[in-house]
Amino acid sequence: MPRVLAITNQKGGVGKTTTSINLAASLVTVGRRVLLVDLDPQGNATMGSGIDKRGLKVTVYQVLLGEAPISAVRVRSQSGGFDVIPANRELAGAEIEMVDLPERETRLKTALDEIRDQYDFVLIDCPPALNLLTVNGLCAANAVMIPMQCEYYALEGLSDLVQTIKKVRVNLNPGLEIEGLLRTMYDPRNMLAQQVSDQLQQHFGDKVYRTVIPRNIRLAEAPSHGLPVLNFDRQSKGALAYLALAGEMLGKST
Ligand code: ADP
Ligand code: MG
Repeated sequence: MPRVLAITNQKGGVGKTTTSINLAASLVTVGRRVLLVDLDPQGNATMGSGIDKRGLKVTVYQVLLGEAPISAVRVRSQSGGFDVIPANRELAGAEIEMVDLPERETRLKTALDEIRDQYDFVLIDCPPALNLLTVNGLCAANAVMIPMQCEYYALEGLSDLVQTIKKVRVNLNPGLEIEGLLRTMYDPRNMLAQQVSDQLQQHFGDKVYRTVIPRNIRLAEAPSHGLPVLNFDRQSKGALAYLALAGEMLGKST
């Protein structure tokens, strides 16, 4: 059975998409078969995987509305070596259009049945909101990975997310776990970041990954070339950090 991870935080700009793409590419490097699902109408995970979102006739939108099978929408990230269920701005309409459909929360989960077993990992890049798209991500997942920046309001936002996870667990997906909290864009010289990081560890213990993703310009540059950072600058601190994260995850699960 593959491990299905929803990469979630309702805050924007915390590193969800960067983590989705670069963790996917890192897992491929160690021989895992990976599917990346883009659930954000911004389509950044799609573009960052080297797939032009503007040229797509079918995306995750048609999958969620039941208009196309997921296998017909799947494209290959040549640069990353993983498969992608892409998204573009059309997906913004899905939120409203799904409301009246049956089993609106589990449409992604059901769609994944067709191809899930072809992978070792399915990573779902969620939008920056606790909306129906994110709930679809949470219902399809075994566990949630939460990227976060160690700043003042981060902990406050986290309690809303934890509440949502609890609700989904009670009503829709009893097996949903918290896989881990990932500190992103970390600057150890920043005192506040250190304090927030300490509080995180006090509160969540070993749910906080030991691996920390540093602030690294190469991670921000790579997407404009449609490349995971591993293919852009293999020796960069960002690339090494995501490889370390993949190693830590694999170590935990065995
Ligand atoms: P989200 O998906 O949560 O909105 P992104 O992954 O798109 O966040 O990251 C937001 C911005 O920060 C992007 O421009 C991205 O390139 C940049 N970024 C993400 N992680 C890092 C990092 N570790 N170091 C430097 N820039 C980063
Ligand atoms: Mg994003």
